[in-house]
Amino acid sequence: MTVSKTKINAQTNPLNKIELIALILFSAMMFFFVSQIFYHAHKNKNMQANEQNLVKDIHKSDKNLIEEIVIEQHVSQDSGEIEIEPVTELVNEIFSDTELVKLENQKTIERYCETVGDKLGSVNVQDCKDAKLKLSGTVSNQARPLTYRDFVTQTTEESKQEKTRIMLVGGIHGDEFSGVSIAFKWLNKLAKAYSAESTLNHYHWRVIPILNPDGLLLPDGQSKRMNANGVDLNRNFPTEDWDEFAHQYWINKRGKDPRRYPGEAGGSEIETQWIVEQINEFNPHAVISIHAPYGIVDSDGPIEPPKKLGPLQLKILGTYPGSMGRYVGVQKNIPMLTVELKRAGTMPSQKNIDLIWTDIQNWIDKKVLKNESVAAMQSIRHEDEDTIIDKKAGD
Ligand SMILES: [Zn+2]
Repeated sequence: MTVSKTKINAQTNPLNKIELIALILFSAMMFFFVSQIFYHAHKNKNMQANEQNLVKDIHKSDKNLIEEIVIEQHVSQDSGEIEIEPVTELVNEIFSDTELVKLENQKTIERYCETVGDKLGSVNVQDCKDAKLKLSGTVSNQARPLTYRDFVTQTTEESKQEKTRIMLVGGIHGDEFSGVSIAFKWLNKLAKAYSAESTLNHYHWRVIPILNPDGLLLPDGQSKRMNANGVDLNRNFPTEDWDEFAHQYWINKRGKDPRRYPGEAGGSEIETQWIVEQINEFNPHAVISIHAPYGIVDSDGPIEPPKKLGPLQLKILGTYPGSMGRYVGVQKNIPMLTVELKRAGTMPSQKNIDLIWTDIQNWIDKKVLKNESVAAMQSIRHEDEDTIIDKKAGD
């Protein structure tokens, strides 16, 4: 019935229909304009409030908020949104680039330590954070940071003298977990020693706990000796004989063992380039490199090696084209110890960790003398390939 009534009205008075449509259109337009005015007023008010709150919070030094804003800044850049810009501009005005970089670096180290703590049974996230590692600015093939920590005290008297520099390197091989874990144990020992009086303080230490993070920091069961390119970093050092012998040695003596692939060229890998740069820049008086699982100590270079390190007896294994021992000990004539722990997946007892450390210190104190003319000393190394005990080739 209602339908027919409307029909009649529309037929008898057609002007009413046009007026009705015009009224509806007019109302809709008015509603749109008014709502836009309210929306923009509300938005401006919110932005002002955000900025005011931010200033308040910044004054409270609320680092968490700043970190969130740093993240938001990235999000807004990614999505192309510009609404956050007034806030980030304000942050940038108040906090210099250096402070923002510091925060970014801190987050990178935290993420790094989380993966290290997840990976190693003997090193937890806090142990790693306590080590206060520094980012070198160089990253591995898969963008993992290459980190280090320096320990040095400079008193007014000592600052005139040059310190004896010792470099400690772990994790060249990503599947030798104990070598990395013990580097962290000794890092923490050094940190304690440097907060108190100790003979260790007479030296300038540079500790690099993980040279091959791409080999180590993989899901369980996937860690590997080589780097992300499948290169054995301990065959990739740019020794003078690399071009002539590295591939020949790998093919003829190693049967193209993929675990000992020396790479396309000496020093082709970013991790090798970085450690070589570290060695040249730091110019150590001695280098200690940690491996597993052969349970011995090997030595290269010009000075008398230790007879033992704790339970590890001296056994000269020899060097290989592209090995760190050949590059550091033979070519650069820098005393080098290769600590071969007994097991790759299990740590030595606490007693043995301490004994090895004490014997390393004794060796440094007695044999690695500052300003000693190492170049004048005769190398104890046997260079003859035939004398190389390479059946195990642990290093
Ligand atoms: Zn090794």
